[in-house]
Amino acid sequence: MPGPEKLNAQTATHHPVKGHRLSNMCRTFLNIRKGIEQLLPAQPCVLCGSMNDEGLWCGPCDKALPYLYNLHCPVCAMPTPAGEICGQCLKHPPLFTNTVAVFGYAFPLDKLIHAMKYGGQLALAHAFAIKLALEIDKDALPDYLIPMPLHPVKLRERGFNQSLLLAADVARFHQLDLLPDACRRVRDTPPQSIQPWKDRKQNVRNAFCCDIDLSGKRVALVDDVLTSGASMDALAEAVRNKGASEISAWVVARTLPH
Ligand SMILES: [Zn+2]
Ligand SMILES: [Zn+2]
Repeated sequence: MPGPEKLNAQTATHHPVKGHRLSNMCRTFLNIRKGIEQLLPAQPCVLCGSMNDEGLWCGPCDKALPYLYNLHCPVCAMPTPAGEICGQCLKHPPLFTNTVAVFGYAFPLDKLIHAMKYGGQLALAHAFAIKLALEIDKDALPDYLIPMPLHPVKLRERGFNQSLLLAADVARFHQLDLLPDACRRVRDTPPQSIQPWKDRKQNVRNAFCCDIDLSGKRVALVDDVLTSGASMDALAEAVRNKGASEISAWVVARTLPH
């Protein structure tokens, strides 16, 4: 095995990381996962508490999750009546051209995402990553996966970047090249969730920079939740400025219209 790669943006290399070349943090995460898998089948469902051997949550709870089965906009995954491009994407097309999303961001999925991000339940990231990986068209894989970067201050507070955990597992699943440190968040912006919708684009403008040449490369950007799409678009702008020819958004969940 090659030496461990640092997640620290200042010291990290920009070499792609194949599924098997993972950072210490990812390895720890995968070990936690392994430990959890070994505990099967005696596992209480994270949603209803009933013992089950199907994974972190039981079959009935899985069926009740808000899967994004409906027809939706191919660009941003917002549900539309006939699967056409939504009005927002027609008016202001984002720089990513398609979105893969597994779930609508609704109860109880929102609680699970929250538990992953703020409760440190990292095993959930693996379960979500597998769901996301299964949605990806394996005949149209990108050259690189890039996780939504966290600002170093937030990374220190949280201790991990959930988007990197997701991207690492999806990369492993499809044997894709992961670029964990190609992009950096250079401005620690106030959380998008407390911004009025209309201000979100401005809030994240120039928040990201990309340090490597991506000329002619197809890139998928990975995040946990796509809300207004402003952060995703800002990151897409950073990679497009470095020459990316095709940019996709891969997310676990997408917020739905109220
Ligand atoms: Zn359950
Ligand atoms: Zn759209």
